Amino acid sequence: MSYRSYVGLEIHIQLATRTKVFCGCRAAFGEEPNTNICPVCAGYPGALPALNAEAMRLGYVVARTLNCDLASVCEFERKNYFYPDLPKNYQISQFAAPLGTNGHLDLEFHRKKKRVRIRECHLEEDAGKMIHAGDESLLDYNRAGTPLLEIVTEPDLEIGEEAEHLLQEFRRLVRYLGVCDGNMEEGSLRCDANVSVNVEGAGLGTKVEIKNMNSFRFVRKALTYEIDRQQDILERGGTIVQETRLWNENRDVSESMRVKESSNDYRYFPEPDLPPFHADEEFLASVESSLVELPRDRMRRLVADYRLSDAQAEFICDEIATADFYEQAVAAGAAPAVAAVWLMGDVQKLLNRTGSALGDTPLTPARFAELLGLLDSGRIHGKLAKQTLEAIFTDDKDPSAIIAERGWEQITDPSAIGKIVDGVLAENEQAVSQIRAGDSRPHGYLVGQVMRATSGRADPKLVQAVLTERLSLTFIPVFSFGGAISGRRTNEGLVVPGDLENLIQAVHADPTLPNDLRYTRLELGRFLSEEITPRDWAALVHAVAAHAGSGDATGLVIATGTDTLAYTAGLLHWLFGDSSVPIVLTASATTGETAESVDSFKEAVRIAVAGAPGVSVVFAGQRLPAVNLKFERVPGSTDAPSFRTWGAPDDQARSVALYGDLELTAEEIATRLETAAKQSFIAKIFPGMQASSLIALIDAGIRFFVLELYDSGTANLRESPFSLRDAIEYGHEHDVLFFCTSQQEGSVDFSTYVTSHELWRGGAIPMGSLTTESVYSRLLAVLLTGDRDAEQVAARMEQAP
Ligand SMILES: [Zn+2]
Repeated sequence: MSYRSYVGLEIHIQLATRTKVFCGCRAAFGEEPNTNICPVCAGYPGALPALNAEAMRLGYVVARTLNCDLASVCEFERKNYFYPDLPKNYQISQFAAPLGTNGHLDLEFHRKKKRVRIRECHLEEDAGKMIHAGDESLLDYNRAGTPLLEIVTEPDLEIGEEAEHLLQEFRRLVRYLGVCDGNMEEGSLRCDANVSVNVEGAGLGTKVEIKNMNSFRFVRKALTYEIDRQQDILERGGTIVQETRLWNENRDVSESMRVKESSNDYRYFPEPDLPPFHADEEFLASVESSLVELPRDRMRRLVADYRLSDAQAEFICDEIATADFYEQAVAAGAAPAVAAVWLMGDVQKLLNRTGSALGDTPLTPARFAELLGLLDSGRIHGKLAKQTLEAIFTDDKDPSAIIAERGWEQITDPSAIGKIVDGVLAENEQAVSQIRAGDSRPHGYLVGQVMRATSGRADPKLVQAVLTERLSLTFIPVFSFGGAISGRRTNEGLVVPGDLENLIQAVHADPTLPNDLRYTRLELGRFLSEEITPRDWAALVHAVAAHAGSGDATGLVIATGTDTLAYTAGLLHWLFGDSSVPIVLTASATTGETAESVDSFKEAVRIAVAGAPGVSVVFAGQRLPAVNLKFERVPGSTDAPSFRTWGAPDDQARSVALYGDLELTAEEIATRLETAAKQSFIAKIFPGMQASSLIALIDAGIRFFVLELYDSGTANLRESPFSLRDAIEYGHEHDVLFFCTSQQEGSVDFSTYVTSHELWRGGAIPMGSLTTESVYSRLLAVLLTGDRDAEQVAARMEQAP
């Protein structure tokens, strides 16, 4: 039986007004108890409330932003109930005519777009706070009377993750509007939920209210728990009791608190001491003038105007202060793309280290723009720019002043650098002759000597250029990484692994290739493609990181095998996709002696020399992107089997360059990749697949599945041992992630079939049009960065670059 869950939220936000909603007391968090109180908010008989117009205005601003119909007249009622933190024994709220109704908020979650309807927004007063200390219960009325806006959604949400996502989106929204700080720990943003589960197609079930969810994470956990609880009861033929339950964060369960009151129990009646509020033209104009560009809109604009990636725009627009800072820096002349990279990278790292917020540091948008300008004009190089950035934080001075004071100006005069290079070459004759003989290894050492001679101030690119010119060399490290291309055929006709000897000879003999090429041959293993282990990949990753980053290489060529090329190319793409040094993989279906191998190898060398950045693949003489590769033999065709790119690599396939600033030893990389591989599994679904097989794998320690599904993300989810159902549920309970790909070259989006909807409900993550090989290699890349927590891994896997 298929079930459907319905979740609605009641979100409460404390409005950031200076004073309380019906009296002049200060509204502030964390002050001495019972100091901000007066006869009105302490509930003395006869005290008269007076409406705080600013609270009303902020309420309308939120309602307007949520696309609500705004009330031209709204009224207040008394909601009667007794509770110690409510001194009047009633709460002033809105019942018959709330300030906003019939709105909506658009969400996108796991690529699924959804409109969540907002039933109403109403203004009320907050209660006081009861603090339990040992045997005593203490009351603090400071909070009583704080303006509280309650936003009630229709039950349009279905799962905990989605509710958490909505709440995060909502928090960002109220922070953008400046109406609430959105702090869940301090209670300025609170959330209750109602949950019902019913048989698919039968409409809403019996509603259970969940309270006491004090963080985004608890919202997700509590709702997941409650949905599972109700579904279990229904599956066993039981009935759901209408009640209110409290989330117990220590035990990870919800507990029954009381059988639910209906609104009749509150005996709402009009508040006699407050006249109806009339929203006149002037008031509505001031509401309009408080509207701001919302996070989603701003993200879209930054992507369009500054050509940022989605991930960059999302990072920058997460906080309005960061977005403002960024746009001010760009207005002051910073290059948009560079500014985004620095903000996400070095600036964020410094903020994390110093524990400060962007607005509270000496780094102003103007200084940031100046720093990037100095870098762009070549007055400082990247490493000096990083030092200067840190110095801005410590010295609170302009970057140009810091550079002048500390003598950090970059040396960019070619003749000055030429002299230093000549001196270093003269002192290192042995290294020079080694290089001239074809061994590039001492190159990095020579660069280092020049940098040392200039206290790190020489322009590293210029040093490279001068060195290369003096030695008249082009360096192409060539990696021998197994496969037929470097192998040969024995007399018995068997293909065995070998080295690159004859390929390199063929390149040397080719007059159309530059004659100053020097190769470093790195033997990373003599094996055939299918024999690759995580440890082999680790050796490759370590070598690529060393050579792509050191600046001595013009380009890298990696000769590898065919069978696992789609994985190896993907892994390098996700790790080094932003490399300015070309990284070219090549493979061949035939051994190294054949013309096909020689042609492919030569083409790879050409690309490496020409300097096309990023990771690419050459197969059968053709250049291909490094993701979504599929090997094909066309039946009946006389053409050699080849690769093609499967599915349109979309935004997700653009490089994410996960290796970034990692500095890992070969052993660390090997350990991490081995662990990652041990925890991962590729499962292709097929008719008759049993959930119990996957469950056994989960019990054996598998935490990440790449699930290859049918079509746009469908699978058997019937109530049967031969369906995915129980495995998805079991995985969900054990923080196991399912990344979903398609067997049919489709884009997995979970929005078409009821069977894919079930998967989406179970928390499976659609990976768009990425192939299984690309998703698995991306997973290894993500796990290599050190993320282990399921949430982090999921975010990194989904992050469009
Ligand atoms: Zn008061």
